[in-house]
Amino acid sequence: MTVEQSRCLGAGQCEQLVPEVFRQDEEGLSRVLVAEPEPALWPRVLQTVQLCPVQAVIVEEASGHAPQDTE
Ligand code: SF4
Repeated sequence: MTVEQSRCLGAGQCEQLVPEVFRQDEEGLSRVLVAEPEPALWPRVLQTVQLCPVQAVIVEEASGHAPQDTE
């Protein structure tokens, strides 16, 4: 999982939703603290993917960890 900083607006929804995984840097851009979060965090991570206004949060299936969205 990555954040495309070139798209990030620094709105901060991701850090508010999952502070264990996302952190805004000194420029206000989000970066990923944990590329493969523990399973318990995935529901909020997937919510962040949907809520990011510029689709900057990218989940790569290749990580082998991204669960199916069960909703
Ligand atoms: S929600 Fe999206 S635009 Fe907002 S800080 Fe996170 S990655 Fe950047």
